[in-house]
Amino acid sequence: MTGIVMEDLHHDDHRYKMAKKLMFAHWHHPQHRKVILKHIWFITNNTPGGQLHGARYNAYTNLVAMASGKPNEYLFHSTQRACPIGNHHNNTHLRNKSDCYMCPIIKNSFSLKHAKATGLFGPGIYATDHAAKADGYYKDTHGNRTRCVLLSIVAAGNTEYRYGSNPLPPSLGFHSVPGGTVLGNGSLLKYPETVVYREDAICPFILIVYDLGAPDSVYHLHGH
Ligand SMILES: [Zn+2]
Repeated sequence: MTGIVMEDLHHDDHRYKMAKKLMFAHWHHPQHRKVILKHIWFITNNTPGGQLHGARYNAYTNLVAMASGKPNEYLFHSTQRACPIGNHHNNTHLRNKSDCYMCPIIKNSFSLKHAKATGLFGPGIYATDHAAKADGYYKDTHGNRTRCVLLSIVAAGNTEYRYGSNPLPPSLGFHSVPGGTVLGNGSLLKYPETVVYREDAICPFILIVYDLGAPDSVYHLHGH
């Protein structure tokens, strides 16, 4: 049976506090726009697809932990949303719109189907600890005023540093590629990304819904 897919977290919930802290930890918006939090949702992974993904993720992350001795990382990702999911307390209805990439992730986790073969580091799943960088990848085709990013737990394991863009998955013994690599022209990507090449290396667990303040706003706006 399928339970609820999203839980609207209370401000006092430890998951809410953790997600909020990570959201603001590296918030460097290029136009100095502030975050105005609306909702922080826990993604339950209670659907059949979500449960299957969770089991695959657990198996893989145990292997990565044993091989690398490294903890998992909490990283942000965003994508295209074509519906109002998460905007309001009762807005938990997953739709099957082909142009909404957010709902399938909430329902069944990440899929390499939407991985960008043209990405700098090939067809992987890209995530970052800089929430404002993930925000830059948010795209709205519904007319929402709000924006959203996903916070995921990522089995980044051993990262293989690379010089120049390289579309191939990491070599044997490595589990991810840091997108913050020195580029061919010697410049650094300003805010590093982590790229994993397996669906079971990443599991979404939080959806943060927010507004952005006016560009170069002088006010410090905190949602709650
Ligand atoms: Zn949707």
